[in-house]
Amino acid sequence: QRQERIRNFSIVAHIDHGKSTLADRILQNTGTVSEREMRDQMLDSMDLEQERGITIKLNAIELEYTAKDGERYIFHLIDTPGHVDFSYEVSRSLAACEGAVLVVDAAQGIEAQTLANVYLALENDLEILPVINKIDLPAANPEAVQEEIEDVIGIEADDAVLASAKANIGIDDLLEQIVEKVPAPTGDLEGPVQALIFDSVYDPYRGVVLSIRVQNGVIHPGDTIQIMSNGKTYEVVELGIMSPKPIPRDYLMAGDVGYVTASIKDIQDTRVGDTITLADNPATEPLEQYRQMNPMVYCGIYPVDSSDYGDLRDALEKLQLNDASLEFEAETSQALGFGYRCGFLGLLHMDVIQERLEREFNLNLIATSPSVIYHVQKTDGSWVEVDNPSEMPDNTNIESVEEPYVKAEIMVPQEFVGAVMELSQKKRGNFVTMQYLDDIRVNVIYEIPLSEIVFDFFDQLKSHTKGYASLDYEIIGYRPSNLVKLDILLNNEVVDALSIIVHRDFAYDRGKNLVRKLKEVIPRQQFEVPIQAAIGQKIIARTNIKSLRKDVTAKLYGGDVTRRQKLLNKQKEGKKRMKAVGSVEVPQEAFMAILDMD
Ligand code: GDP
Ligand code: MG
Repeated sequence: QRQERIRNFSIVAHIDHGKSTLADRILQNTGTVSEREMRDQMLDSMDLEQERGITIKLNAIELEYTAKDGERYIFHLIDTPGHVDFSYEVSRSLAACEGAVLVVDAAQGIEAQTLANVYLALENDLEILPVINKIDLPAANPEAVQEEIEDVIGIEADDAVLASAKANIGIDDLLEQIVEKVPAPTGDLEGPVQALIFDSVYDPYRGVVLSIRVQNGVIHPGDTIQIMSNGKTYEVVELGIMSPKPIPRDYLMAGDVGYVTASIKDIQDTRVGDTITLADNPATEPLEQYRQMNPMVYCGIYPVDSSDYGDLRDALEKLQLNDASLEFEAETSQALGFGYRCGFLGLLHMDVIQERLEREFNLNLIATSPSVIYHVQKTDGSWVEVDNPSEMPDNTNIESVEEPYVKAEIMVPQEFVGAVMELSQKKRGNFVTMQYLDDIRVNVIYEIPLSEIVFDFFDQLKSHTKGYASLDYEIIGYRPSNLVKLDILLNNEVVDALSIIVHRDFAYDRGKNLVRKLKEVIPRQQFEVPIQAAIGQKIIARTNIKSLRKDVTAKLYGGDVTRRQKLLNKQKEGKKRMKAVGSVEVPQEAFMAILDMD
């Protein structure tokens, strides 16, 4: 029976431990892609993924493997991102699988995201297959990592696969273990169809393309499918598997992972996490939903050219289909005009979305400085949620402000514990506890305001620990804090999009730094521009941007043509993400200045 020969698994790991490279080797060793088609990090199909060397989207593909027992098996492999901002992608991948291949770097050992992924896998009742990767590295210590897996994670690691994805070692062992240890799916082939939508993407020709995991039943082209959350029905046009190119099939059955198109034009109708059934024999219950992720960071996104506003809405809708953790709603800014308030899982997510909007939809955008959601109690007793600093009520109307806190788990070698504590303290953290994992490593736990974490905590943590620390965090709730709104005035006008919310103790420092930083990034204008930082009516810092004296190229005497051309081009590029705020041209960097301080 075919189902007994299906194996569905995800590859999970801390970032850079080698998931994508391992997936490459699996594709190659099973002959799924030929030598000629092969390139590094094959499944990172977005340009952005290739350039940055990180996986952003999950990727599901089918491949065939002939095992030592002579049987042909069907593998569905899902490669997942490792960065904490994209753990939503991981949790959805896991919901479509029976097993998880857990990759651990033989030189680094277990890190924070390794553990986070293990918890996700356990929550989904998955069989975990440990792989100790990069054993080719001189610093590799597979025995120590093996022990760590047993001690820290508490799973058997005696026969963990010892691998080098780079040098193609251990891959056969892994493929055999997948056959032996990952359970085959056990869905009911005869029963009513239940299939989980775990991803989707908009294709201009085919409409919405859904990635699904069929739990029960069989779907054929021509069947009328029904989306269980809203009852909408569609006729299946095409279904099939990715290998890694789409290959149409005659059916997808319980246990299969594949894609479906059904001329779905209305993007809102199919949401990731929904269950599909068949209209003529519907299931009574949808499949269990996986954990929804709520955005943690908000910012405004505005078109540089206001006539792109409609296109921006279109682009956001299409991206949301592919990234259900993205949220947006319309907002207006006095300084920037019409745009959208968008919610993200973290700063990397925000950065990636802005870049995808610009590249995939050819838009030119300005993003405002990010903010978390604050809870504000007004003097009349009512509470409001503020995700945009410019909407903070007047100081005189505020009774109290609460901000979100996270429990942060920071895993480091003992020698860096001091540095971690110093940094966490500086970021307003409260020490909770410290756990010794083994002779070398410590798990340091702090409660820290989310706003401090999302800004530059991770980068600073890395630089304070020579890159050895890893971080995982979860929201634990709201706590009162002494917070104030800091306004920025350009040319004596408050620029709403530059307002930030800061702790009162840091307000003066932040104000001074911000004003200095803005002076660096805002180019000179035809006239002198005063920059001021204010709390309420009170100016706490100020400086001036001097006026432009002459044409920047004049001093090149027109002699060096290429140099002159370069400078002009550079100016043109600089213009790209630049927005007129009143009479002042403000570049994108100005809105991000807050991230770039200390
Ligand atoms: P991911 O973030 O987990 O997907 O990791 P990647 O597959 O992108 O790999 C991260 C880096 O580690 C890349 O530079 C790879 O070339 C490198 N790498 C992956 N596997 C191995 C290995 O077995 N040995 C060595 N030396 N390097 C590896
Ligand atoms: Mg990767």
